[in-house]
Amino acid sequence: MWQALKTAFLCGRGQSLVTYASYDDNFSDHLTRIEAVLNCFKKFGLRLNPSKCSFGASKIKILGHQVDQNGIRPDEEKIKAITEFPAPNNLQQIALTSKPVLGHFDDDAPTELHTDASGYGIGAVLAQKQGSDEKVIAYASRTLLRAEQNYSTTERECLAIIWAIGKFRPYLFGRHFRVVTDHHSLCWLTNLKDPAGRLARWALRLQEYDVSIVYKTGRMHQDADGLSRNPLKHTEENFNDDIPTLFLLSDIGREQENHPYIAEIIRNKSQPSLTKQDNKFKIVKGILYRKNYDPTGQPLLLVVPRHLRMEILSDLHDAPTAGHLGFAKTYDRVKRRFYWPGLYRSVKRYVGHCQDCQRRKGVPQLPPGYLKPIPPPGGPFQKVGIDLLGRFPISQGKKKWIVVCTDYLTKYAVTQSLGSGEAQEIAKFLLEEVILKHGAPREIVMDRGRNFQSKLLQELTNKCGIKKKTTTAYHPQTNGLTERLNRTIADML
Ligand SMILES: [Zn+2]
Repeated sequence: MWQALKTAFLCGRGQSLVTYASYDDNFSDHLTRIEAVLNCFKKFGLRLNPSKCSFGASKIKILGHQVDQNGIRPDEEKIKAITEFPAPNNLQQIALTSKPVLGHFDDDAPTELHTDASGYGIGAVLAQKQGSDEKVIAYASRTLLRAEQNYSTTERECLAIIWAIGKFRPYLFGRHFRVVTDHHSLCWLTNLKDPAGRLARWALRLQEYDVSIVYKTGRMHQDADGLSRNPLKHTEENFNDDIPTLFLLSDIGREQENHPYIAEIIRNKSQPSLTKQDNKFKIVKGILYRKNYDPTGQPLLLVVPRHLRMEILSDLHDAPTAGHLGFAKTYDRVKRRFYWPGLYRSVKRYVGHCQDCQRRKGVPQLPPGYLKPIPPPGGPFQKVGIDLLGRFPISQGKKKWIVVCTDYLTKYAVTQSLGSGEAQEIAKFLLEEVILKHGAPREIVMDRGRNFQSKLLQELTNKCGIKKKTTTAYHPQTNGLTERLNRTIADML
């Protein structure tokens, strides 16, 4: 049995490996097994990260469960929202805490998500109808962020749904489930006729799930209700709101029909004789999607009408969160969610024509003119280039400049943000971050900027016996290495 397990793990992704001694085994057997495993690793030249290993543990957490001598139990984390629930002080509250027995998730059972929001918290219960029982699979709750406390009731209730779906995504993605809420207006969220702003983005996010929202009065689902009123302290949540804002449009289905190519597919879909082409598409709630077999993307890609494509491209390429990534990365982001004919070419053209990209990234080609070969330095930090980047929009610490010092041999870079970028600050950086930490370089390459040519820097380099080399005017190629890094940093910011 154990041999089989080991083989399975080693043949699989090799990401986790468990050797266990059940409680009626003795410890020396356990050691023999561990030795066998370690020998096996050695034989195949595999290495283990000590911080991720534990040996001789009497209980371990694995795949969301806690395994110890008493058996397998749900991970404490999953029922934390319940165990840390304040002591009940009336009958109604006891109804909730009396049976927080978590069931196992059953792939075939109907799945429900109960959500609720109070003025300061949101809560959710993932439940399944297994046979005649309703089993709770997991509980979750959190407090609202300050900004979220200003949301309207509808928005808070909606936030609870979106948050809970994200939280339980592994259970929900790719299967039908019902969201049960006591807020009646949310039933329209999935078919919002005229969505705008935040609600629209959320409605859009729901589109990747096969979900229906049903309304139940508050009394019928006190579980989630109770949690939202006694939420766990908010812990940092990966709650990014990066869904494109494009869906300020009224009705995607109608927009699609206005587009001849898409309309034709939809028309063909309704005919009984399906061509091969039509099989690649699926209509869900009146909206045409293309099936996606790439596991990294969503299972259904929205077929985008022509006039909305630019908006998607600009959202996924030059919105502040998108950061002007190159063609390959932008294409990857788009094709995970959307489809239209000629997608590859559209992205290529869009990124190629992006003015911001052109202005800052330039064309990767040889600089014109004679190139001076630079003899390689003899050791790390013997020759460095230094440059000042800015001005940037003010960051939190009121820093507007970034000074970059690059080692010519190792390409190692030391950077620091500066307030004024004046000579004093540069000298201080050079002394504290470069000279005192890496030793005085023999040579520093810098440009003709006023700050670099200051007396102070001159003195500092003289005292340390550093040869100061100035780049040719308007010819930053001399300091090519630093300039290259600068470009990367500036693109990232
Ligand atoms: Zn760009």
